[in-house]
Parts: sequence; structure tokens; C-alpha cells
Amino acid sequence: MRTRHLNIVGAGLAGPLLAILLARRGFAVTVYERRGDPRSSTHAAGRSINLALAARGIRALEHANVMPQVRPLLIAMRGRMIHELAGPARLLPYGQREHELIYSIGRGALHRLLVEEAARYPGVTLQFEQACVAAEAERDALVLRDVITSRTYELPLTPTLATDGAGSPVRTRLAEQGLLAAREELLDHDYKELTLPAAAGRHVLAPEALHIWPRHGFMLIALPNTDGTFTATLFLPRTGPCSFAALRTERAVHELFARAFPDALPLMPALGQEFRTHPQGRLGTVHAAPWHIGGRVLLMGDAAHAIVPFHGQGMNAAFEDCCVLDALLDRHERWESLFEAFEAERRPNAAAIAQMAIENYGEMRERVLDPRFLRQKAWALELERRFPDRFIPRYSMVMFHADISYAEARRRGAVQQEILDRLEERSGGSDRLDHELARELITRRL
Ligand SMILES: Cc1cc2nc3c(=O)[nH]c(=O)nc-3n(C[C@H](O)[C@H](O)[C@H](O)COP(=O)(O)OP(=O)(O)OC[C@H]3O[C@@H](n4cnc5c(N)ncnc54)[C@H](O)[C@@H]3O)c2cc1C
Repeated sequence: MRTRHLNIVGAGLAGPLLAILLARRGFAVTVYERRGDPRSSTHAAGRSINLALAARGIRALEHANVMPQVRPLLIAMRGRMIHELAGPARLLPYGQREHELIYSIGRGALHRLLVEEAARYPGVTLQFEQACVAAEAERDALVLRDVITSRTYELPLTPTLATDGAGSPVRTRLAEQGLLAAREELLDHDYKELTLPAAAGRHVLAPEALHIWPRHGFMLIALPNTDGTFTATLFLPRTGPCSFAALRTERAVHELFARAFPDALPLMPALGQEFRTHPQGRLGTVHAAPWHIGGRVLLMGDAAHAIVPFHGQGMNAAFEDCCVLDALLDRHERWESLFEAFEAERRPNAAAIAQMAIENYGEMRERVLDPRFLRQKAWALELERRFPDRFIPRYSMVMFHADISYAEARRRGAVQQEILDRLEERSGGSDRLDHELARELITRRL
């Protein structure tokens, strides 16, 4: 039978949401977090980093009854605003229905809110500045260290839910014991976050869009914040002629921006100083198997399946994990069978979104400039209007249809791409869509 007490390691984005869902079911949950309490102002200070929240994340936040508090933090984004080197920026809408939007949300504000909401439950105990240093499955020991006093202490490991992020120490310790295999597939592109400050308290670009400056081998993006600023992220190869390694001086940074992002440069007065002081982040996909050790430990969120950020789905997927585990609690009495069922259900979906996220990088930095891609995007929306139950663009399935799993979105997306390619062949490179052929292919294949 299940114990009524659980450990959660990591109070990032998924940890507090999971704590809420478990506490609602009457579990006593203790959450151990290495960092300080985000509710205290000293820890809340910092740069404004934002995330795209979409249907899967919203569904999870609604399920946890926190969406009313989250709503005021959101800025709706209708599409991608593409900034080409020359000419005016143009909006590529994400979807075609009123509600087909994604939302920019500040990570700090969301994090704080989730921690505050979790703390309301008497069954949730939040322990900050407590770092997990070991998870020893054989001895059933979870080893923690108080970051302030350096005191180390042990607790029973069973059951522990590890939401300790992409670099998961729990995963690393279990891998060291030979209990799971894990590897991180690093992208050869890194990122750096920068700022477009507000002018007289207002956004300097249209706030209802995710701005992209696609430049084939690299790109800049910017998401709006509620305080009038934008957080921009530069994605660039680590090494090579146009790379982070090549940007050794402030002058070189300035020259790159003047050449590649001339309309963004005047909006970034602190570019040189920010470039020098902000960290250069790595991006990668985590592959780990298995995700659970019997009924003792389960990896969830980024700890199990961190992905590159180009589909804006890492947090959304981590939140979806929490809902899946919650639903499975209805059907499983034992932790082991619960963890097994969770892994069976989530692994194919995690693999699918990991792959789609990598593919989306090419789309964002390159294909959005390709007339063939733009034509097919327009056709996909047209086909969705004509066959709404059968043809849904893959991007829409991932972002707006929380009821379609990632694996199913990828499978259907591949069939749809074959159909679009056939229609492309038939059009001979013109914009003329053969409606008869489209109907026949869609009826037969979808
Ligand atoms: C540049 C970038 C942009 C992104 N944009 C988006 C986006 O637009 N949309 C989206 O959905 N996702 C996005 N993501 C992904 C998203 O940030 C993650 O998927 C999400 O944070 C995962 O949540 P998590 O709770 O699993 O991990 P995290 O939020 O990373 O939380 C892990 C927590 O564990 C704690 N911890 C670590 N080690 C220990 C230890 N030893 N002991 C105790 N606690 C520990 C950490 O301090 C942290 O609080 C982006 C990621 C990056 C890098």
C-alpha cells in the first residue's frame, strides 16, 4: 500500500505544482529546494526571464485551481513577428481562432505564485536551502545538506519525486550507482538573455507577438513582459566564424547586432554591458532510462526529459507530467506500479516533443523565411478551416490541443507533411492549392 508521506526534491516550476496536487489528495508532502525562498525579496530579485505558456500548461494550472491568480501575469501573443533584414516586420499568426494564443509569463512571478499557493496547503512543508546530495536506493536513503549550516542528514528515500531540473543531482547519483543510464545531448548552439527596456513605461515593439529575427545559422527572439520590457534571447553557435567564441569584445558584439539585427540594436542600450555580464547558457536534451527505481524514486519534468526550448514546451510538458501522475493515482495503489505506468505513458510523449523542439529551431531561424514553407503554412490553415476534425497544423496540435498527445501530434504531423508535399508537387511551385487532391488525400490518410 502507499505511504501517505512523500518527498519532492526541487521546488522549481513543477515541484510546487506537484505538491499542490498531492496535498489535495491528502498526502503529506515535504519539498526540499537547494535555493532560497522565492517569496523573500532578496531571492526574488534578478533579471526578468519569461516563458511561453500554452494549452497543456494552462490545463494543468487550471486543474490545480491556480489559473485565476496566474491570469494577471500573462501577455497574450498572437503569432511570430518576423523581422527580416530589410523591410517591415510581418506577423505570422500562430493559429486562426480567437483563443489560439500563447502567453508570455515571467518565470520569477510564476515561480513565486506556485510556491505561495503550495504553502497554503497544511499538508505541504517547504524546506528551502536544503540541497539533495545523494539518493541511495539500496540503503533507501535521501541525503540532504543544509546550505546555511552545512549539516548533512538522511531521510527514507521511499517515495521521492525528483523535480530537480535538467541537471538533476538525483538522476546523476542514481546513474553513478548504475541504476539508470543518462546522457545529455548538447546542442552546439548556446544562448544569452538580454533586455529591450520599456520607453516611458511602454513596450518598444508590438507586445502581442513573439518577435523573431531569423538569420539562418542563428537568431534573436524577444518575448514581452508585463512591465513594458522585452526579454530577448540570442541563440548562436558556440564556436565558428559567427559564434559566441568569436564575440570577444564589446565592439564585435556591436558589429554583429548592427549587421544582423539593425532594428533591434537601437532598442538595446545596455547591450554591451549585458552581453559581458549575463551568463552564456547551454541547451540540450536529456535522455534517461529508466525514470523510476522500483517504487522508491521517480524522475519528472526536466529531470527526466529536459528538451531544447524552441517549441516553448519544457515547462508545459513538466506541468502535464504533474497532471498525468495525479490522474494515475486514481488507478494505482502501489508506488511501483504507479511509477511504471507514469513512465509508460510519458516516455513516448517526451521523446516526441524532444524531437519536435529540435525541429522547431530550424523552423524559427531559417524556414520562416522560405516561400515554400510560408505557402504550406497558409495551406495548412486553409485545410484546417475546410477539414477541422481531420487536419490540424502540427504546431496547433502541440500548442493549442492539450487533448492530443505529443506522440500523436508528431505522428499526424508527419502524415500531414506528406500531404502538403504532394500538394506542393502538384502546384508546381505556385500558390494554387488543388482542393480535389487535398480532399482525397485527407479523407484517405487522416
Ligand atoms: C532559455 C530557455 C527558455 C525556455 N523557454 C520555455 C518556454 O518558453 N516555455 C516552456 O514551457 N518551457 C521553457 N523552457 C523550459 C523550462 O524552463 C523547463 O522545462 C522547466 O523549468 C522545467 O521545470 P522543472 O520543475 O522540471 O525544473 P526547474 O524549473 O529547473 O526546477 C528545478 C529545481 O530543482 C532545484 N534543485 C536543483 N538541484 C537541487 C538539489 N540538489 N537539491 C534540491 N533542489 C535542487 C533547482 O534549484 C530548481 O528550483 C525554457 C528553458 C530555457 C533554458
